[in-house]
Amino acid sequence: MDMPTMWLGALEYLSQRRPMRWIAFGFRELANFLIPTSCAVCSRADFRLCPECRSEIQRQLFLPPLPDGQHHYVELPLLAQQLPVSSCGIYGKELARSMLAFKNKQRYFLGAVFAPYLAAAINSSCIPQPGQLETYIVPVPSSLKATGKRGYSPVSSMLARGMRRGLYSADLAIKPVLHYRVRSILAGAQKLKSGSARRSGKEHFIAEQADTPGRPVILVDDVLTTGSTLRQAAMACHEAGYNVTLGIVLALTKPPNHESEQ
Ligand SMILES: [Zn+2]
Repeated sequence: MDMPTMWLGALEYLSQRRPMRWIAFGFRELANFLIPTSCAVCSRADFRLCPECRSEIQRQLFLPPLPDGQHHYVELPLLAQQLPVSSCGIYGKELARSMLAFKNKQRYFLGAVFAPYLAAAINSSCIPQPGQLETYIVPVPSSLKATGKRGYSPVSSMLARGMRRGLYSADLAIKPVLHYRVRSILAGAQKLKSGSARRSGKEHFIAEQADTPGRPVILVDDVLTTGSTLRQAAMACHEAGYNVTLGIVLALTKPPNHESEQ
């Protein structure tokens, strides 16, 4: 239960007692004045996330085993491979609105709603083998422009929340080894596209060199749209010596390409 809801519960109780009614009314008005809040999804007053929207979001997200429709493959033509990608949900309705509020409207607390689903999807797809290298969970970074505007990275913050709550198995470690290329901003994405970066397919990203060659990596992003972002992230990791085994996203757009690239 979040703070405003607790406040309101207490005020509800107080307002049932006649002598307290006016005092409670005064406090409610004061609380709304000081911390006005509305549901991040439907804008209903006095809730950060109303119970109806919360249960809709939870209904639209899946815990493993994920249904068939939540699996996708991103082509990696330069490696003649496909990268399997699993998704906790389909991008749309309350889930899409809450993700946009989380990413663009400073509704950070929504990360707590999403984090367990992401953690469950990642845990279930990484079965530890004896003697196997620890798998790195690598967040796909947002563009510097987006990070600058938001002041935080939505994917990293969801992963960090899950880690703080002990939701990840011990053989997984979050390692932000993937970075947005400053050069692609300085030179302009168009110019780079004609150069060697385009041929290697890793235009926007650069990865730190793997500490151990073949280190297993799970790439994590918020939305899968065309797959172009994950493809570039996977290629950058591959070139740095990682073995990218899987992609996990919170939501999959359906059909692909119906929205601008994420
Ligand atoms: Zn709502």
